[in-house]
Amino acid sequence: MNLNIKELIQQMTLEEKAGLCSGNDSWTTKAVERLGIPSMRLSDGPHGLRRPASKPEGGYGSAVPATCFPTACALASSWDPELVKTVASAIADEAKGEGVGILLGPGVCMKRSPLCGRNFEYFSEDPYLAGVLGTSYVEGVQERGIGVSLKHFAVNNQETRRFTTSANVDERTLREIYLAAFEMIVKQAKPATIMESYNRINGENACQSDWLLNDILREEWGFDGFVMSDWNAVLDRVPSLKAGLDLEMPTSWGYRDAQICEAVRSGELEESVLDRACERILNIVFRYAVQTVEKADLDAHHALAGRAEAECMVLLKNDRSVLPLDTDKPLAVIGEFCEKPRFQGGGSSHINCYAVGSVLEALRAKNGEKTVYAKGYSLDGTENADALIREAVAAARSAGRAVIFAGLPDSAESEGWDRRHMRMPENQNRLIAAVTAAVPDVAVVLLAGAPVEMPWLSSVPALLHAYLGGENVAYAAAEVLFGDVNPSGHLAETMPLRLQDTPSYLNFPGDRDECCYGERIYIGYRWYEKTERAVAFPFGHGLSYTNFSISDARINGNAVTFRVKNIGDRAGKAVCQLYVGQDSPICDRPVKELKGFAKVALEPWEEKTVLLTLDDRSFAFYDTVCHAWRATSGTYTISIGFSSADIRAVLKTDILEKNPPKAPITQNSLIGDLVTDPAYHYAAEDVLRRIFSPDLAYEIEQFGFTMNVPRFKRWRGSALRQFIEYRRGELTEDDLAAILADAEKKRTE
Ligand code: BGC
Repeated sequence: MNLNIKELIQQMTLEEKAGLCSGNDSWTTKAVERLGIPSMRLSDGPHGLRRPASKPEGGYGSAVPATCFPTACALASSWDPELVKTVASAIADEAKGEGVGILLGPGVCMKRSPLCGRNFEYFSEDPYLAGVLGTSYVEGVQERGIGVSLKHFAVNNQETRRFTTSANVDERTLREIYLAAFEMIVKQAKPATIMESYNRINGENACQSDWLLNDILREEWGFDGFVMSDWNAVLDRVPSLKAGLDLEMPTSWGYRDAQICEAVRSGELEESVLDRACERILNIVFRYAVQTVEKADLDAHHALAGRAEAECMVLLKNDRSVLPLDTDKPLAVIGEFCEKPRFQGGGSSHINCYAVGSVLEALRAKNGEKTVYAKGYSLDGTENADALIREAVAAARSAGRAVIFAGLPDSAESEGWDRRHMRMPENQNRLIAAVTAAVPDVAVVLLAGAPVEMPWLSSVPALLHAYLGGENVAYAAAEVLFGDVNPSGHLAETMPLRLQDTPSYLNFPGDRDECCYGERIYIGYRWYEKTERAVAFPFGHGLSYTNFSISDARINGNAVTFRVKNIGDRAGKAVCQLYVGQDSPICDRPVKELKGFAKVALEPWEEKTVLLTLDDRSFAFYDTVCHAWRATSGTYTISIGFSSADIRAVLKTDILEKNPPKAPITQNSLIGDLVTDPAYHYAAEDVLRRIFSPDLAYEIEQFGFTMNVPRFKRWRGSALRQFIEYRRGELTEDDLAAILADAEKKRTE
């Protein structure tokens, strides 16, 4: 195939090659009929198919009916890679049925602030969780013969000024937080394409970043698909092509094609660069352009969407076991969402749903005629809030118990803008407060794609988070509320108490076009744990109608095993989480970080052994001096539990860094670093013996090459160059230069 594609490219005219590098219209690539090159169709993702149905192709208007599956924020709460794969495969089948070759998703950007308008399209605040789930998603789609576009690469964490803002972020944070999920997915699942983001990164347009696209994505990670732009993201076409941005989307109406041709003719752009982009595009086009069209079974997918959402719902609170509800007893069902459930967000991921279930009908189907409904609030704010609240309170009083569906309105969460605050509409907050004051047994079901402030939290005994759960959220809610499905979702993000507590509070969405990622690696639970801030619900939290225990935790090499047991009478699923932290790191590190998890189904009183395998990366941080991942020697704590705050077993393990990278020794290297960091040990002792006076040898003999050497302790914060002054003429600039040259020789030999 490769050879044929190379030959094909040789037969293409310059204009045909340039043309291949931008869309034919909004949703297809260009065909070259005389050479048998087909056009390939691209459609959004990520939680369902949005394939425009009619001309003009450019519009966001009508799309063919498709299943809206639980959005990424919900799906991630399943903590279930197999489920994610099943859903992704179903979306791929729908794509295939509509002649789509590339599905524009998944999105694996980090939830940096709860305010980001597209958080509902992203999985998590944790790169490991997003990476594992994203890998499953990509595998699920691509195993069905459809390619993905993993997006938005990279550091696209806000909608405010999204076309121009610069994410100003240090290298370590980039590597450990913002690139890590992409890295895992690229390496493990080999996505067909990557979609570049709109924003700049440290001042450079992501679409034109040779460092990001060539050095990191292709050279380091081995990405072999093609890179496309987000829609209208490209600033300057020729530099972006040179930097490795192969396909510009959507169409440029020919003017960028002309620019490319002109650049080749003038010698500004080597034709081989254009050929390389064409080769990458054609490799994918020939693999994924869909020829056969077989419609997917949307009824089956509607049912799957409901079953999937039931696995995603997070039971946040359940005092006095208010849930599950008994059937056939009076129940007040409150909230306009029961008539018009909110289950997806706005923007390019918006699905023209095949079918939408009614919450009220689903609850009535379980509970029968004793179910009374009160609107409670009006979503568009046109009706009198006090009257609606009074009516709801009366309904709750007459039934003696109530379920309230509440959350964020459509306008709050969409591509294109961020929220300004974390509050729910005031009429809903007042409703919840009034109903809980009237009857004790109240369950609130939240429909929202991101955290909200919950001023009523302490007075609500039961709280179930449905997130934005897809078109069949009604089915899922009924199954979980009445206990036919035991909830097993866990939070893929922290629920903060207030916006002011969040890590990026002072730096989101930035100062005009400059956004400083000042919280660095401390996003999500990394921040709340390090700063010991109270939260509403911690990362990884989720209750069940049964209870689980963990015992017999052991570590043997990289294998961690433990027993998890259902200690109740109801079958359920435990989400076991493994976190790693280093006890005395040589650099600043989070308290602990998620490095493994398993969702385990258990019958009543059943017990199973879980095996989680760690690898070098599980212990590593990104060292910006050596530009390398390092798991430095020392003791690490492995914490196993059911949330980041609910740890049931703790293990210790010692790691020995076998081949530390070699950090350059310069005149600014500090004595303390040379002694304590093995990255300098290839030459540190020799350098220090020559820097200090000769009798240092005696001290090293006595105390070893450690910080116990008194002079190392005393001068730990001094740089090598300062010894020229300290030694009063005994060490010259030339001496130091010679010492450093010898060290450099050792480093590079
Ligand atoms: C969005 C992408 C989407 C594309 C095509 C852009 O505005 O950022 O996520 O895939 O439009 O609809």
